[in-house]
Amino acid sequence: MLVAESQASLLIFYKPLLWDYLAAGSYYMLPVALALMLEHWLSDHRPWLINRIWKLHLVYLVGAIGLSLSGLVDLSSTFPVFDALFLITVTCMASVAVRRFRHLLREQRVLLVTYGVFCALLVADMAVAHGVLPWGRIPVSWGILVFLLAVVWIALWHYARTQKALTQLAISLEQKVAERTERAESLARREQARVRLLTFENEKNRVLGDMITQLQDCLNLGQAYAVLTGSLPDLCSPLRGALYRRTPGEAYERLSQWGQEGESSAMPLQLNTSDGLPRPSELPPASSEAATSDRERSRANQQLCFWINVESASDGLVTDSIMLLESEGLFDAAGSEYGVARLFAVLNQAIQRIGITLSKISLREELQKFSYEDALTGLKNRRYFDQLFHHQCAVAQRGRTPLSLLVVDIDHFKVFNDTHGHEAGDRALQSVASVLLNQFRESDIVCRFGGEEFVVILPGAMTDDGRERAQSLCDAVADVDVVFEGRNLGAVTVSVGVASWPEADGEPRQLLSLADQALYQAKEEGRNRVWIHGGQAA
Ligand code: GH3
Ligand code: MG
Ligand code: MG
Repeated sequence: MLVAESQASLLIFYKPLLWDYLAAGSYYMLPVALALMLEHWLSDHRPWLINRIWKLHLVYLVGAIGLSLSGLVDLSSTFPVFDALFLITVTCMASVAVRRFRHLLREQRVLLVTYGVFCALLVADMAVAHGVLPWGRIPVSWGILVFLLAVVWIALWHYARTQKALTQLAISLEQKVAERTERAESLARREQARVRLLTFENEKNRVLGDMITQLQDCLNLGQAYAVLTGSLPDLCSPLRGALYRRTPGEAYERLSQWGQEGESSAMPLQLNTSDGLPRPSELPPASSEAATSDRERSRANQQLCFWINVESASDGLVTDSIMLLESEGLFDAAGSEYGVARLFAVLNQAIQRIGITLSKISLREELQKFSYEDALTGLKNRRYFDQLFHHQCAVAQRGRTPLSLLVVDIDHFKVFNDTHGHEAGDRALQSVASVLLNQFRESDIVCRFGGEEFVVILPGAMTDDGRERAQSLCDAVADVDVVFEGRNLGAVTVSVGVASWPEADGEPRQLLSLADQALYQAKEEGRNRVWIHGGQAA
């Protein structure tokens, strides 16, 4: 409108009528623009009046320009009508805007005020033009300028605000990216730790598997503990530890320790006793309900105590050994608690498996002992004799080495039993058995053959040697009194038959019947004596 009304417009494009129409069109558009703006701002309140106003003005604009272009009316004659219409509609819009002014945004208010100023100047200009007000120059262009400046200011203000918001958005995005990167890195670290832990567990399970295989090959608990002392350091590393084993005196003595820095370093892994050996009272009760678990763990002093319980036929379930572990430093390491828990789970499982394997070994050992041992005297039994005699005969024959056999029988044992009772008879059997054990070397084999008969295998002994030792046995038995329940029942005597190979004809395995015949002869000759196969008395 400013351009159309200025003289400069004719310099740009010399078409006076065109500029007039442009100026009129722009002029008639003013209320349309204001009404559209208000309708948009107040859209929440469905401003039907405003809607009618901009439509009315638009119709007027099209009608006025159209009619004047078609030559039906003069363009200048459309201005007074527009002025009247504008005065009415602008008043309506002003009243609506004033009522809703509080609810508008700041920039909307600024625009409305500057537009209001411009409209006021316009109305004043109309009043001058229609002679209502005395003639004077009304600065309508200044009104437009103020409005445009307001628009520019609002645009700049919005631009600055948008820039600021964009900067903040960029910062917050960067923060989010950093947070996500941190989270991803921490997940990666946790995953690495998990992999390390799994590798660690696998390694421990491998060591445990090897250890159990070695244990299964052991014939007795002594061998098994040798394997344990060798393998436990690997299984328990990086923990320092010590292994204690129960002694016959109900104390625990240290078998091994590991993880010590230097031999002379003080060993903190001591069971709590005054003399270094724990008394049973100072240990957790091995037979209690809680003790049936193979493991007890205590964090006191950061020491861990694992009980290795072993089942045996004679003693039942006993804590046969104790493993102490020093966990110092492990609990303090931040974030390692999970790993420590897994280590304990592995160790706990290991101790249970070790306990079960040791129990098997112990039971097998006992079973073997029972099957070859005579329960009353503790000597080897008839089964053992049969196997070993057979073996010794083969050895003697192959090596052409002498072999002697003694068959020993207690004299008049039935009378002894009848006189003193069966239990006293048992005591006499034990007494003769202990004399037998004392009289012969470890390489000789002493067995209870059955009832009140004993046999002694003397590998490498010829007749003379056999005779001599049989005689000293006879003398020794006769010298020892049987004491039962505090009563001295006197001594028993034995008769001994001796047979030796190769002096005796035939094969070595015939020695048993030959010695038996010699024994019979000894009995015949009056008992308490030695008879050598071949008809010789000792
Ligand atoms: P002899 O001098 O001829 O050998 O006479 P004996 O009485 O010793 O021989 P006999 O075979 O007549 O009797 C053996 C007795 O040994 C009979 C049995 O009661 C006793 N006896 C066998 N085994 C045991 C045992 O384990 N404990 C006890 N107390 N007695 C036993
Ligand atoms: Mg007999
Ligand atoms: Mg007898």
